[in-house]
Amino acid sequence: MASGKDSLSTEERNLIKNVKEDIGPLQRYRYRLTYDNTAAQYNLINTEQKLQELVQKEESFINEMELTSCPDEIKVMQKKLDGLHQDYFVLRQTWWRWRSEFTEYLSRAFDLWRSYPHWYLHRVLRNDCALKGGCCGRDCGCCLMRATTSGQNRKLGTGHCSIECACCIRSRGFDLTDSRKAEVRDLFRLSDSTHRYDDQILRASMWGLMKDSEENPLDLINKHPPLY
Ligand SMILES: [Zn+2]
Ligand SMILES: [Zn+2]
Ligand SMILES: [Zn+2]
Repeated sequence: MASGKDSLSTEERNLIKNVKEDIGPLQRYRYRLTYDNTAAQYNLINTEQKLQELVQKEESFINEMELTSCPDEIKVMQKKLDGLHQDYFVLRQTWWRWRSEFTEYLSRAFDLWRSYPHWYLHRVLRNDCALKGGCCGRDCGCCLMRATTSGQNRKLGTGHCSIECACCIRSRGFDLTDSRKAEVRDLFRLSDSTHRYDDQILRASMWGLMKDSEENPLDLINKHPPLY
């Protein structure tokens, strides 16, 4: 891959050597030296949001299927499930398409951050989930569980609650109509680095960082939900 060790600067090499417990200085150094790669990062996060939605929808279908014994209903659900398999396949290709645009500092920072299975329990992302009415705002533990329950072939869809989370739907007592779902998707589709919200989500998801904070990204992984 283009991110081979040959291209490491002396400073990055030293930071890697001294990383021990705190990965912050290394991640911040790489962040400072990454330019012009924002669109690819946003596209990747948007793809991951779609993957999360898909995986959560798939889980609901599978659970529903287990509850019914009517052959016609099972047939219809199986067809829908087959459609979702195809959607996942395409989204996986899309994910890789944008991931392969990452330049070297970003690429290494991303691989390091994502090597921690609980990366998405970063404080910023947990707060975001809780404030949007997701499971991080309750004590059901759904978000924490996803790190271990998402099968290897659905790993790219591991993350916080989407509009398709069955636990969230049960908790609020209603599912959204398709047009309302589209509204929510539009609202949280990341697009512009000048927006404060987008920038916060990008830093936390790709780098483990938080603006104006020197905290170790690993200390920002919070296995206990914020519970708003
Ligand atoms: Zn949820
Ligand atoms: Zn969550
Ligand atoms: Zn839940």
